[in-house]
Amino acid sequence: MKHKAILSSVVLVALWWCSAGAQAADTGPLPRIRVLGTGGTIAGAQLEAGGQAYQPGRYDVGALLRAVPDLERIATVTGEQVASVGSQDMNDSLWLELARRVDAALAQPDVDGALVTHGTDTLEETSYFLSLVVASPKPVVLVGAMRPATAPGADGPANLQHAFTVLADPAARGRGTLVCMDDAVHYARNVVKTSTTSAATFQSINRGPAGRVRPGRVEWYEPMDRRRVPDPPFAVHALRQLPRVDVIYAHAGMSPDLIDAAVRNGARGIVVAGVGDGNVSQAALERLARAAQAGVVIVRSTRLVMGSVARNVEIDDDSLGFVAAGELNPAKARVLLLLALTRTSVPAEVQRLFDEH
Ligand code: GLU
Repeated sequence: MKHKAILSSVVLVALWWCSAGAQAADTGPLPRIRVLGTGGTIAGAQLEAGGQAYQPGRYDVGALLRAVPDLERIATVTGEQVASVGSQDMNDSLWLELARRVDAALAQPDVDGALVTHGTDTLEETSYFLSLVVASPKPVVLVGAMRPATAPGADGPANLQHAFTVLADPAARGRGTLVCMDDAVHYARNVVKTSTTSAATFQSINRGPAGRVRPGRVEWYEPMDRRRVPDPPFAVHALRQLPRVDVIYAHAGMSPDLIDAAVRNGARGIVVAGVGDGNVSQAALERLARAAQAGVVIVRSTRLVMGSVARNVEIDDDSLGFVAAGELNPAKARVLLLLALTRTSVPAEVQRLFDEH
């Protein structure tokens, strides 16, 4: 039922003009930005005033944009609603639909950039996905909020205003997909959600943000890491689904049963959220090796927040045919493995894609 509701909201496209001012009085033409709404807290409403409970995805993009201060001075905006979901319900087919919509928007000569509103729970995955599949050098910025639109101190309007400021900056072009939250702008590959409730939840672990957003301008931290823009991007336009990839969380006393279940249910890839440097129990290791021999691609990531997983440290990836995730956390490693599997299931080639992306 819920699935149906999501699908129908994907099919239902609401397109409207939010701001018709195509020309600023003295600063030349404003950037023309397409906004794609997907739901989340940024579009959420409290169930009762003062309460903690709320429902994500209650407002459409038009309502959100009307709350952005000075928008008519920053950008000319058109919008469309792609979905209205809490981002815990984001999934592979919605990602493919979103990628098609973003690419279609950016292909239009009268669109200079795209802004995607999104729930914060899986924003780190959607942004990384888009960064790997969008071909255009025009900027794409994802933005969410930690407080619902009806809450005191709602952070959505400021986050949106900052996202438009980033999109209006010519220096945003060619940086791939970006995430704008809490006065900072992040590269999609690096950004992760770190706190359940803090407005400062998004951090670029290991590296720091791409820059800071000040009133009306962006301070970019240089140099930019060129790996952020894949060349060529993964081609997903013709795809209606992606291969199954499961994430399995390691812990003391880990049994191999969930690995068996993943393989039995048709997983073509497994990402392990390993302990420490991507380790698992001996019993799990043996079962992963067996799965790898059967053609399932095994990627070792870590359940830890910082650091990276390197090849051949405690586990002999070369002889077992495993892939090391480097800096990618399990959720991001799953995104890259989904896309890598559309090209190859040879572990050495998948490893090369992980090293490059
Ligand atoms: N769980 C919801 C989501 O990710 C709300 C969280 C949020 O947007 O902050 O869409």
